[in-house]
Amino acid sequence: MLTNNLGYPRMGSHRQLKKACEQYWTGAISRQELFLAAKRIQEDNWTLQAAAGIDLIPCNDFSFYDQVLDMSLLLGVIPTRYAPVVTDVKDNTEIDLYFAMARGYQRHGLDITAMEMTKWFDTNYHYIVPEFTHDQSFKLFSNRLFSEFSGAKYVTGKTPKPVLIGPVSYLLLGKEKGSVPFDRIDLIKKLVPVYVEILNKLKDDYRADWIQLDEPFLAMDLTEKQQQAYKYAYAEIKKHCPHVKTLLTTYFEGLQENTELAVSLPVCALHVDLVRAPRQLDDILSSIPPKLSLSLGVVDGRNIWKNDYSQSLSLIRKAIDRLGAERVMIAPSCSLLHTPFDLDLETGLNPVIRNWMAFAKQKLQEVRELAAIVNGNTSLLVANQQAQESRSTSALIHKPAVKERVATITAKDGERNSPFAIRQQVQRQLFQLPLFPTTTIGSFPQTDDIRQLRARLKKGELTQAEYDTAIEQATLEAIRWQEETGLDVLVHGEFERNDMVEYFGEQLDGFVFTKNGWVQSYGSRCVKPPIIVGDVSRPADMTVRWSSFAQAQTTRFMKGMLTGPVTILQWSFVRNDQPRSVTTNQIALAIRDEVVALEKAGISIIQVDEPAIREGLPLRKKDWGAYLQWAVRAFRISVSGVKDETQIHTHMCYSEFNDIIEHIAAMDADVITIETSRSQMELLEAFAHFKYPNEIGPGVYDIHSPRVPSVAEMVSLLEKAATLLPARNVWVNPDCGLKTRKWPETKTALENMVKAAAIARAEVEKKIVA
Ligand code: GLN
Ligand code: ZN
Repeated sequence: MLTNNLGYPRMGSHRQLKKACEQYWTGAISRQELFLAAKRIQEDNWTLQAAAGIDLIPCNDFSFYDQVLDMSLLLGVIPTRYAPVVTDVKDNTEIDLYFAMARGYQRHGLDITAMEMTKWFDTNYHYIVPEFTHDQSFKLFSNRLFSEFSGAKYVTGKTPKPVLIGPVSYLLLGKEKGSVPFDRIDLIKKLVPVYVEILNKLKDDYRADWIQLDEPFLAMDLTEKQQQAYKYAYAEIKKHCPHVKTLLTTYFEGLQENTELAVSLPVCALHVDLVRAPRQLDDILSSIPPKLSLSLGVVDGRNIWKNDYSQSLSLIRKAIDRLGAERVMIAPSCSLLHTPFDLDLETGLNPVIRNWMAFAKQKLQEVRELAAIVNGNTSLLVANQQAQESRSTSALIHKPAVKERVATITAKDGERNSPFAIRQQVQRQLFQLPLFPTTTIGSFPQTDDIRQLRARLKKGELTQAEYDTAIEQATLEAIRWQEETGLDVLVHGEFERNDMVEYFGEQLDGFVFTKNGWVQSYGSRCVKPPIIVGDVSRPADMTVRWSSFAQAQTTRFMKGMLTGPVTILQWSFVRNDQPRSVTTNQIALAIRDEVVALEKAGISIIQVDEPAIREGLPLRKKDWGAYLQWAVRAFRISVSGVKDETQIHTHMCYSEFNDIIEHIAAMDADVITIETSRSQMELLEAFAHFKYPNEIGPGVYDIHSPRVPSVAEMVSLLEKAATLLPARNVWVNPDCGLKTRKWPETKTALENMVKAAAIARAEVEKKIVA
């Protein structure tokens, strides 16, 4: 029985790669220094995996930016717009071309846009989308794969396992470009020969043994044509690389109806995710052909919990009974890229709680220990069982009152007192807002000064009172400025918040935080998700202090500002000992209490942000309905505790709404603000088509760039919105929060926005009079 690892985090234990890349980009370090930093991380990773006793150690899982972009370079899929980069500076090399594709290139009068980035399946990792043209050609372009192989072999003294994205998934991850319409899957015939060349080179020139081909799309919904592409590609590879030992990996979902297809492909081993889909093992075992080996992904590569050995062992033993140990491998469920590096660095965690967790390094140990237990070392079971028991019974995290409250939620808890039409009347009476009311999404620029305050408070250089006074001052200035500018509904600016999830997690019971639990989000960017460890409850008010302070400074309406339950769930590491829906409901009740507390404190407009609703969608379409039902319900529970006259807003960005519009409508927020400016209001069409009944603020200001939109531009966006929706339902606001912007551009843009609203308002009023 072999132990297998699919991939390892590549940032380094202390985010060394982030630092090295960012320094290289600013010119602070040389290319040699960048490569040296990368080499050190790779060597550490390989040494660590060898020491952990992993048999199949991956190589080429390292990346300077993104593994899909690495594939594009390996296969020579380089959009023509990057051609000038190579010759622009005499010593520009492959890495500069690579970073230009990732980040764009602006030098010497060249201004070449970066390639598009999108989410890697249902993770928070973003990959660079390959661009294909109808006449796309492929050729072996980059040699980094081969030098990594040699490096890993040298360091570990073992034959490493090169990792590649398989040909079908690589095509499916990309996008068609150019004016000639075509289907990128048809490129498979041109693509496969290059894979054949690479695999044979690895085998013949480098003496590779196992080669891993990642085909996560095998666990997704596939069309007939895509299934055919799988059959074709792997038959060709088998035919032209008869001696290569191929390991086909799938993850993030079960194979389901693709089981027969997957097990029939002529590869040597198949890896399946038994954390997401443990029940698929039975189907696979009953249809697996003789000789195909099975890699069992039993250790969770997506979360931070200690493995439950007895559960994993029952799966492993079942597979061994059917296949024999020589055809079974033990592995994490997917690449460990999605877990933080090393739990040993978390000295600040309560040791009882820490003992329930495992990060990447500990997960390798778990794989090794599972193999050892199967081979007879059952003593290893004891400590694991104790940890599981401690977690399932601990009073630190199990709060009967919280569980009881969730269990007794009724349909009524998810319903406002009156339907929207009535609420709208009541609210119009009360607020007396003009047509096209203007507002913003919540945050104002988080300047260095503001961040410094927080850092100094943490270090003890500021007292809490000094910090609060400084934040009050920033809030007050933002309020005065909004009044002067003429915004209708104000925000306090969120200066007191580090992050929209962390801020709430820190004040709720049931969360813990790490010091070094970084996970790559994209390129050099990492996030440090909070960990939901136990039953969630709200020991005290969270935002009332700041919202009341802000409301007291102005006679205009001040929006209360909260993060919604689904977004808090989605951007945290979540419990694996209860359904996600239950955890979300616990958070929803906590947010509900905060909404009610804000209302009591005199805040009459309250926004509950849910930007992550869409990204929580399951990978298989047939599972969407069930998810949307509990997600929408959780949102409704969080906002339905208030009177009709309290206006509930929600905000969502990065969203396409076409296929989920009825569920967005079911959220029944009085006002929803969305991102629409970059698509020129295209996203609004879904709302128009659906005849969305409630009020909407389609973003008219793209906050993702420092560019200041003109008055005329925003007027025309508003005119367009008013043709799609009843004008009296339309709000005027930016696409998203302004946290990442600088003050000067923010001020001009919002001044323009207020002017644009006034012009659009006058136009509509003129029409009404006429
Ligand atoms: N209220 C938040 C802000 O303005 C919303 C952020 C978001 O949608 N991601 O920053
Ligand atoms: Zn947003």
